[in-house]
Amino acid sequence: MKFQDIAKGDLAILGLPLDHNSSYMMGPALAPMRMREALHCGSANLTSENGYDIGAEPRWKDLGDLTFSSAEASIGEIEAAASDIINRGAKLLSIGGDHSVSGPLIRAHTKVYPGLNILHFDAHSDLYDEMEGNRDSHACPFARAMETGQVKRLVQVGIRTLNQHQKEQAERFGVEIIAMKDWTPDTTLNFDGPLYLSIDLDVLDPAFAPGVSHHEPGGMSVRDLLNSLHKLDADLIGADIVELNPHRDLVGMTAMVAAKLTKEVSAKLLG
Ligand code: MN
Ligand code: MN
Repeated sequence: MKFQDIAKGDLAILGLPLDHNSSYMMGPALAPMRMREALHCGSANLTSENGYDIGAEPRWKDLGDLTFSSAEASIGEIEAAASDIINRGAKLLSIGGDHSVSGPLIRAHTKVYPGLNILHFDAHSDLYDEMEGNRDSHACPFARAMETGQVKRLVQVGIRTLNQHQKEQAERFGVEIIAMKDWTPDTTLNFDGPLYLSIDLDVLDPAFAPGVSHHEPGGMSVRDLLNSLHKLDADLIGADIVELNPHRDLVGMTAMVAAKLTKEVSAKLLG
C-alpha cells in the first residue's frame, strides 16, 4: 500500500519505527513489526468488541512503516507524512515508536482541525520543557503540542508521576489532569469538536503490559482502558499507540494488548 492509494474516508495505519528520543531504554522502534505480528498471528480474528470487522473493511489500509532519512530529520518527516495522509481526507492511526512521535503528529492535525482536543492516556504527563537537552524527547511531546497555541483542550488520564516542573507546565498550558489515583470506572470523558487520541501503553499497570520502558505500578487494567475508549463520546479524528518496548515484553503479551487496542481504536475511527 502506498500513500497515493489513500483516499478520502480511509483509515491509514502507519508504523513509526523510532526510539532515539527515548530517555531510558531503546526498543519502541521494533514495536510496529511486533504489533502487526500480533494483529495477524491467527490467534484472534480482526473483529472489534462492537462487531466491526476491520479485516473486511476496504477503508482500513496499512501503509507499512515510515522510513526516515536520518534521526535528525525524523520528527519533520513524521509531520510531513501525517499531513500528506490527512490532506487526502483520510484519518491516521500510527503504531509504535516512542512518545516523541506525538509532537509532530499533533502539529499536523492542528493544521487541518481547528479547535483540536487531545485525550492522552499515560502514566506520565510528558510535559517537560526539555529532557537532557533534547526538546524532542519522549518526555516533551505535549509541551511541544501546547506551544502551538492550536490545541483547545488537553486531557491527560492515568497520570501518576507528576513532579513540580510538570505541574507548573500543566498550569501554564491549562492542561486537565485526571490522575490515576482519582480515576474511577465512572469517570466520563466528553469533548466538543475534533478529538485526537494518544495512548502510551504505560498507562496500563505493568502487570497487564510489562513490555514498556518505564514500569510505573498502579495503573489501569486493559479492561479499564477498553471501557474508557468504548464509552468515549467524541468525534475521533486520529490516534497513536506508542511506547511498546518488545525487549521487555513477556511472551508477546504486551504486543497483543497493543494489537487489541489497534483493533478497537480502528473500529472507533471508522465507525
Ligand atoms: Mn508518554
Ligand atoms: Mn509514559
